[in-house]
Amino acid sequence: MSNLPAVENQKIKQEAIVPPRTTKRSRDYQQIPLYKDVNPLDWEDWRWQIKNRICTKDALSQIINLTPNEEKGIDKAKGRLSMAITPYWGTLLDPEDENCPIRRQAVPVAEEFIVSPHEMTDPCAEDRDSPAPHLVHRYPDRVLLLSTEQCAMYCRHCTRRRLVGDHEEKEADPANKFDAAIEYIKSNRKIRDVLISGGDPLILEDDVLESLIERIRSISHVELLRLGTRVPVTLPQRITEKLVNMLKKYSPIWLSIHFNHPKEITKRCEIACDMLSEAGIPLGSQTVLLKGINDRPYIMKKMVHDLLKIRVRPYYIYQCDPVRGTQHFRTPVATGINIMEKLRGHTSGYAVPTYVIDGPGGGGKIPVGPNYILSQAKGKYVLRNYKGKIYTYLE
Ligand SMILES: *Cc1c(COP(=O)(O)O)cnc(C)c1O
Repeated sequence: MSNLPAVENQKIKQEAIVPPRTTKRSRDYQQIPLYKDVNPLDWEDWRWQIKNRICTKDALSQIINLTPNEEKGIDKAKGRLSMAITPYWGTLLDPEDENCPIRRQAVPVAEEFIVSPHEMTDPCAEDRDSPAPHLVHRYPDRVLLLSTEQCAMYCRHCTRRRLVGDHEEKEADPANKFDAAIEYIKSNRKIRDVLISGGDPLILEDDVLESLIERIRSISHVELLRLGTRVPVTLPQRITEKLVNMLKKYSPIWLSIHFNHPKEITKRCEIACDMLSEAGIPLGSQTVLLKGINDRPYIMKKMVHDLLKIRVRPYYIYQCDPVRGTQHFRTPVATGINIMEKLRGHTSGYAVPTYVIDGPGGGGKIPVGPNYILSQAKGKYVLRNYKGKIYTYLE
């Protein structure tokens, strides 16, 4: 397998490996026949995890019992967003239950190839709002930089499936790939916040990521750097001492981590998040509301509580974008509003994220939620609280 030519061509450097520990809630990899002889040091090596990603029906069927619907999905998912599952994520899959939330996020099914009304290739019109290659500029003071087209694992609900997940062997990325994007940021003094996402920026080698961060950090009007990643969840082995020490040098860096289900918060994931927190990197979560996965208030509540316990502040819940082939994941908006109703007031304010719809066609993130203002007249607001009791506020 050669999924990451650009990465694999680099000289593999020795680096500190986190000692292996057992994870709660997951199968021990040594109990899975496919992995029983894997050296624990290999298991903890993120490059080994990438190299040994599960990309075929054959490999996956050694871990779980595939359904015909999944087999059909895997056969059809070739090229863009084809299947790739880290062995670590593989240990979290329920071998018998096709509705396992971990499994549904990673294993293609036939429904992915149905395009429903209103679904689009680029629902958030990112390509339209792109002033330079790999850059999206939608809001006045911040930009989104798409640093890579690869991830550790390909989520079946991916909103950037038009760009992400091509396993085809390609030329290594040219060194000047981001020149125009960086020039654009330099020449726009209003840009104070740069969000590096992708793909997943933490799939890049440390030195490649560092040179990108360094170039952005050296722009004087950029106050804040953010990374959007799912690596602490899908490939926690990637969070090495060397990586966190590198990131620490460029503080302030904030990290947004894509979490969708409490089962993803394993002991191993907690170790990765602890290392990031201890390097002074504030952690937030981003969650996609997904039918049958996290669309019940008690599941979302368990997840946000478990996130706070590992020092991750719930940031956003996204309505699942109308991207082609995701109808089977999408819930009514009322489902999301009801979840927010069941959180606000009923639990710690820090546990309550903002539920947003990314306005189709490029509107940006629009917060939606329960209505707490019942009426508003001159100098008088009639409000209700989380219990439905009514209060009047006079200005
Ligand atoms: C989400 C997003 C941002 C960051 O938005 P915040 O609400 O500040 O987290 C910036 N640019 C684009 C294009 C985005 O989609």
